[in-house]
Amino acid sequence: MSDFLLPRLRALDPYVPGEQPQDKQYVKLNTNESPFPPSPHVLDALSREAIARLNLYPDPLSAVLRQTIAAEYGLMEANVFVGNGSDEVLGFAFMAYADETRGATISDVSYGFYRVYAQLYRVSPIIIPLNEDFTLPVEKFLSQGQLVALANPNAPTSIALPLSEVERIVAGNPDSVVLIDEAYVDFGGETCVPLLGKYPNLLIVRTYSKSRSLAGGRLGYALASPAIIDDLNRMKNSFHPYNINRLTMLAGIEAMRDRRYFVSCVAAICAQREQSAAALKTLGFTVLPSATNFLFASPPGMDGKTYYEKLKARGVLVRYLSQPTLTRYVRITVGSVGQMDALLTATRDILKEEKA
Ligand SMILES: *Cc1c(COP(=O)(O)O)cnc(C)c1O
Repeated sequence: MSDFLLPRLRALDPYVPGEQPQDKQYVKLNTNESPFPPSPHVLDALSREAIARLNLYPDPLSAVLRQTIAAEYGLMEANVFVGNGSDEVLGFAFMAYADETRGATISDVSYGFYRVYAQLYRVSPIIIPLNEDFTLPVEKFLSQGQLVALANPNAPTSIALPLSEVERIVAGNPDSVVLIDEAYVDFGGETCVPLLGKYPNLLIVRTYSKSRSLAGGRLGYALASPAIIDDLNRMKNSFHPYNINRLTMLAGIEAMRDRRYFVSCVAAICAQREQSAAALKTLGFTVLPSATNFLFASPPGMDGKTYYEKLKARGVLVRYLSQPTLTRYVRITVGSVGQMDALLTATRDILKEEKA
């Protein structure tokens, strides 16, 4: 840290991304990426001709991409905002709707970036603890009078909230924006897109990083009323008008159009998830019911950190979150058949070693 950094920024706790160690080849099950490559149509679209046009700025409105996304959900282009990863969309949402005069409400166990953005924008958030079984105490999220930000399905718990409960929260906060981060909804949650016509305060955030195999492309989007989209555009155009680069724009259009590929990847991941969850339960794990592309699992006879370390020593990376209520658990991305076999083999080995 330099002596020049503003005093109010010295205390920031920046987001810590899942580790990407380079010391050896790991079986990477720690950042919820897709085990599948992007759609073949994406590979075709990123042609030499497309690359040759990188001397030109991209369309600052991302019009074709937004139309393509809108068509997928039966919405209008005016209902869609696109960002450099959904992290950027979340950042613009906090920038637009929360500050020291109007705060934000989040849950204690959720996507870590909400707290970081709150801090960045000088918000002391109201942090509501989850129930003991990791479900959301819906009634505590009503009548907040300030931004409410929730992930559904939630991370890292993998648990989905039914649409009727999401609607209670959106309807219960008519004076403020309710942001529902649907990063994982394609894997089994109920989307709240059908509520958009009814609630002008609903802001849905989505990402291409998980179910559309484009984590490296950095593309996320928001679905909301035209007025909220207009707010987000005001933030973007005050910060970075060309936030989607040309290649990612092409990739995003093709990945959204190739519905068959998307459906088959999601189906394969969900099938693998059920298999892996059953196998872990057979070994004595507690596995929370997952509506996502990861499992939140607690090993028998050891805490999450020990299991994480023993897996890492065997070349398998999962995510351990040191938060007090989560110490018995690890978050395991649902990977390919081979990756999940490697996880189970390493796990059996660890459990055998414990018994010996
Ligand atoms: C992965 C994730 C994101 C970030 O996605 P990007 O689009 O890659 O920035 C946002 N929210 C949740 C809940 C996530 O798990």
